[in-house]
Formats: sequence, structure tokens, C-alpha cells
Amino acid sequence: MPFNALNLSASVMRGVVAAGYTDPTPIQLRAIPVVLSGRDLIASAQTGTGKTAAFALPILSKLGVHARAPRVLILEPTRELAAQVETAFRDFARFTDLRTVALFGGVGYGAQRNELKKGVDVISATPGRLMDYIKGGELSLGSIEILVLDEVDRMLDMGFLPVVKDIISRCPKNRQTLFFSATVPPEIAAVASFALKNPERVECGVNRSVTQSVSHALYPVAWAQKFELLVALLEKTDFQSVLVFSRTKHGADKIASRLKSAKHSVAVLHANRSQNQRIEALAGFKSGKYEIMVATDIAARGIDVAGVTHVINYDVPENPEDYVHRIGRTGRAMAVGDAFTLVSPENADDIRDIQRFIGAKIPELRLEGFPYQPFVVNPSYPKKGQNQRRGGGGRPQGHSGGRQGQGGGGQARQGGNRGGGGGFRGR
Ligand code: AMP
Repeated sequence: MPFNALNLSASVMRGVVAAGYTDPTPIQLRAIPVVLSGRDLIASAQTGTGKTAAFALPILSKLGVHARAPRVLILEPTRELAAQVETAFRDFARFTDLRTVALFGGVGYGAQRNELKKGVDVISATPGRLMDYIKGGELSLGSIEILVLDEVDRMLDMGFLPVVKDIISRCPKNRQTLFFSATVPPEIAAVASFALKNPERVECGVNRSVTQSVSHALYPVAWAQKFELLVALLEKTDFQSVLVFSRTKHGADKIASRLKSAKHSVAVLHANRSQNQRIEALAGFKSGKYEIMVATDIAARGIDVAGVTHVINYDVPENPEDYVHRIGRTGRAMAVGDAFTLVSPENADDIRDIQRFIGAKIPELRLEGFPYQPFVVNPSYPKKGQNQRRGGGGRPQGHSGGRQGQGGGGQARQGGNRGGGGGFRGR
């Protein structure tokens, strides 16, 4: 079914055409009629599926023309997502007179306050900064007609539940509420029943599959050689832009500074960077100023950077879902991308869980010509589930080096597929 069968307004359809979209994605096909009908919605689609347009297009169609009081509130877990979603709204609304603002922390209040004062129709916000304006008496949610709770599972993971509930209760009862969450475990179902009235369900299922346009592979390596292998992979890969994932903020900084010493142009994205640094990193990576961005999961969740050609998991993600999210950063919107995961014997449990989760075995590759040392398991490495929460310092970080040879046990356990080359476009 083409877009023009979906009853979007003429000016929003012009925005769709200008964005270059020809056919709606499955979530758009299913969600747009529900949003237009005025019913509440609970949808399990994830980022990368066209989820933003699935709510932005019908919302903008319903709004029609500018009115001074804010009518739409979108809550997002991170500053990057709040900014990205606001940009999408602004782009789709370019042939209307509707006004949008992004409210998030880490930057000054002045510019956001000015936009609010001028009068906006759509607010895309993180919960904390939004509450600042509400408590300061600068914003009331009494005129909100449509409330979008996006990435609810991540908002709850980040401890936003009390403030999100507070915000929901400040919106009028007769609003329309749209609820997006990758998973709906019991605590999220409880928020849904608190926030939604007789919702329509759009189940796109938890995305366990890896985008077909992404080829992915494991690169087994001794812990102590991870950085060396990363540099060698970058050397042999014909990449335009690479996203490198680290489990921790500290690790991300360390990898970035070592890559800089190896003469790469590198940006870093994690929650301890100032908002200006985060904006600069993302903008520089998008524009091509930086060929590599090193990021943590929280910071990179959902960000949409066109043209990421490679994702490298420097650290194996602990949470299998994050594997799917991370490598979903490449291969978006039909581009072909490669995703490599550096894996040490210590990561065996994590890899087993990821393969179980995606229901497939990830091929193992070896980089031809790399001076591989025997893989030696560090006997003091905690088992999965022991002292190893996200971002915690429980398990060793590969970039810290110096683990090689510890324990002296275990013999090499190398990749099965020795064909080499797989994801590479050798130079
Ligand atoms: P999202 O899931 O909202 O983060 O969107 C993922 C990417 O898909 C973004 O780059 C969108 O611009 C793009 N996209 C969304 N809908 C469509 C569509 N119908 N056709 C082509 N690209 C789309």
C-alpha cells in the first residue's frame, strides 16, 4: 500500500515525498491508521523500523495548523533521541506552520525557553529537563492532546519511572497516548495500564533478527590483543564510517585516545561527556569529520546515522538485545553494513546467550596475517552473572591490557571459519 492511501494530510505528504520515502514500513502501515483514529496505541516496534515516522506523520496530520499552546508531548530516554525525534518532526512538518522544540539537559535553558515562549505545538523531551520547566512554572501540560512515551523499557531501565508517572498524571485525562517499548515485561505493562485507555496493540514482536543487509562475524582474539586487532581490522577494511562500541564510558575514552594516537579521526559519545561535546561528536560523525565514533550502549541507543558502514563491538554486549541494537546501527534503510565483534574466551557465555537470542550462529573469522597469540583464559574472570552489571567494573576491560598470559591455562580456542576476509573488502 502506498503512503497516499494512508489519509495523511496533503502538507505532511509533501514532507514524506521530500524525505524520499516511497513505501510505508510495516509499523507505519499498522500504526498510522490507529493514531489517526484517535485510539491509544501500544506498539512493540524498535528503532530502525521507521517507528518515528509511524507516530510523527499521523500526529502532524492531526495537528493541522499552529496553535500557541503545546498539544503533543514526546518523552524520550536520552538527549540524542529527544533531539533526533524533534528533527524528524521538524523535517516532516516543513510544509506546515507547526512549531517544535526539543527540551533536554546538559545545555543552557535560554534557547529552549525562548522557543517555548514563542509558542510550540510539539515538545520532544527527556523527563528531567521537562520537569524543570514545569516546576519553574514555565510550562503546563494542560493543553496536551497526544502523549507519546517512546522507548519505555529504556526509560524504566534508566530509573525514570517516578518522573514519567508524574508527567503522565499532569496531562489531561482525555488525551491520546501512544506507547512504544521493545519489550513489555510486567512492570512496563503496569505503566501501560496506568497510562493507556483500551489501547490497540501493534505487535511487531521483539526484534531478535539481525537486519538482513548486515553481515556479521565474530573475531576471536586473546584479551590482550583486542586493541591491536581493532587497529588491524580498521587498516584492512574499506570503511567510510565506523561505530565502535565499548561497555564502559572509561573504556570508550581509552579506546578513542588510543585510536587518535594511531592517527584516526575519532569522536566519543557517552553519558559523562558534556552536552556540547555530545552534540559536536554526533554532528562531526554525521558530517564525516570523524571517521570513527566510540560509544556506549546508552548513548548510542536508537541514534540514526545514515551511512555507518561498519559496527565493531570492541566489547561483547552483555545484554543480547543490545547486540541487535548495536548492529542495527549499520545496514539501516537498505544500506549494506558489516558488524564485527571482538571476542575473547572470557566472553563465551555472552556469545552463547546472544546466539540463543537471535536464534542463529554467528560465523567466526580470522584476520589473515594478524600475529595471533594463543588464547588464554583468565581464571579470575567472573562467570556471567557474577559482579558484572552493565558498566560496572567487575569484569576486565580489554583495552586495559596486561591480561595476556595470566593463569597460564587453557589453550587456543580459535575461530572455526578460517576462510578469512569474510566481511572485508581487502585493500
Ligand atoms: P526509526 O526507526 O524511526 O529510527 O527510522 C529508521 C530510519 O528509517 C530513519 O533513517 C528513517 O528516516 C528511515 N525511514 C523511516 N521510514 C521510512 C520509509 N517509509 N521509507 C524509507 N526510509 C524510512
